[in-house]
Amino acid sequence: MRIDIITVLPELLESPLNHSIVKRAREKNLVEINVINLHDFASDKYKSVDDYAFGGGAGMVMMIEPVYKAIRKLKSERDYDEIIYTSPDGKKFNQRMANMLSLKTNLLILAGHYKGVDQRIRDHLITMEISIGDYVLSGGEIPAAAITDAIVRLIPGALSDEQSALSDSFQDDLLAPPVFTRPSEFMGWKVPDILISGNTAEIEKWRHEQSLERTKILRPDLDNYE
Ligand code: SAH
Repeated sequence: MRIDIITVLPELLESPLNHSIVKRAREKNLVEINVINLHDFASDKYKSVDDYAFGGGAGMVMMIEPVYKAIRKLKSERDYDEIIYTSPDGKKFNQRMANMLSLKTNLLILAGHYKGVDQRIRDHLITMEISIGDYVLSGGEIPAAAITDAIVRLIPGALSDEQSALSDSFQDDLLAPPVFTRPSEFMGWKVPDILISGNTAEIEKWRHEQSLERTKILRPDLDNYE
């Protein structure tokens, strides 16, 4: 799998893509991730990638030409399953979308910045628009990193068996059960007896009940979560 991310601020993506599970998945060649600096596609000597908005108003807009050139070059090298634009008005990201995207081969993510990208890019080149929630961030880099992380950890081999994605929240529309580690008692706070009983079948049953219980209380909407 390959994920390419176009950004005006590659530095913002460095840390999230170079640590932990994503780092290990890259090292194991399960995924290739490339960060493309939009400034490399600017046409003037100032490497401009933003300009004033037609019609006036506060805030700059990502220019059409550098984005067009960057996407055109990448598309000439391979076919993309999706060309994603991160945007607060996009489809709200969830585990199902992460599952679906983790089955793809080539993804291109355009991280927006400033007031966003010239609408014509969205109309003509973008195939999917994703929001990571109903709030506004300064740029699409954190959303791109979040989307990439959620996808990469689902690639077979990225997680060890013990970390299996199947026991995480939202798979099967259920929240994860609570977890504990040693010591079994701290300041008088005890770990549930069942977890130290050694009875694997009972432990599994308890975990499933906890998942159901927590989902019912915390996220009753997950039943028909879309
Ligand atoms: N003017 C835009 C927000 C611009 S924020 C609006 O009101 O919709 C700058 C960039 O950050 C956006 O272009 C987008 O790429 C990214 N961004 C901000 N919040 C986001 C979110 N919740 N999900 C995905 N991308 C987001």
